[in-house]
Amino acid sequence: MNTFDSTLAAHGRRLRRTRPRVLQINVGQLCNLSCIHCHVNAGPARKEIMSRETVERILVWQRRARLPVVDLTGGARLPPPQAELEADYKRELRTHFGIEFNQLYTITNLPVSRFAAWLRHQGHYEAYMALLVSAFNPATVEGPMCRDTINVSWLGEVFDCDFNQMMKLPMGGARGPRHLWDIDPAMLEGTPIAVGSHCFGCTAGAGSSCGGALTTAGGDVRQADVAAA
Ligand code: SF4
Ligand code: SF4
Repeated sequence: MNTFDSTLAAHGRRLRRTRPRVLQINVGQLCNLSCIHCHVNAGPARKEIMSRETVERILVWQRRARLPVVDLTGGARLPPPQAELEADYKRELRTHFGIEFNQLYTITNLPVSRFAAWLRHQGHYEAYMALLVSAFNPATVEGPMCRDTINVSWLGEVFDCDFNQMMKLPMGGARGPRHLWDIDPAMLEGTPIAVGSHCFGCTAGAGSSCGGALTTAGGDVRQADVAAA
């Protein structure tokens, strides 16, 4: 049992799948950028990119399964210049949605891959993990994205989330990889989720996911502590 498992058990919680709602497709690790905070270790030199054949197999699966949400992720391969793109993006938000984009807010970054290496290199890894563990909020366990998401790699292999994909933790803690086209979404409900100490990143404070906070109950972690980590 890992430390996250034992923390869940100590709070009388379990992390189990609900009915799948989101098909999250990570198209690859090729990216224009090489951000320090990247949990994918993406960059311009990476070669991993989804083949047309895999795209087509995923489309066939999704036509049958009809999950309500398809979330495309992976490297950002936008052409330069970025400043013009950002200006265009802000203008579209303002014109069509009345939204003034003036500040980017961030969510908890999980200590995985390049970001974990950077934390270790800076000597911050232990303190960062200790902060996440101390901020564990049992109220968030109902909401992590792994509960209703099927994450798919550029090879078509399935994982409980993109972080697990980068950590090579197959869906449900299976021994080896399985492919999306071998998965029946109706059979996933109630099945276990592979977890590790990185999961404390999703359950700290108000919780964190691709969709933002998981609960309004923020636990007792102070925002200043999070910002300082
Ligand atoms: S995938 Fe995202 S976080 Fe990673 S290097 Fe590219 S832009 Fe940065
Ligand atoms: S990191 Fe852990 S808690 Fe977070 S989404 Fe993945 S499996 Fe769930």
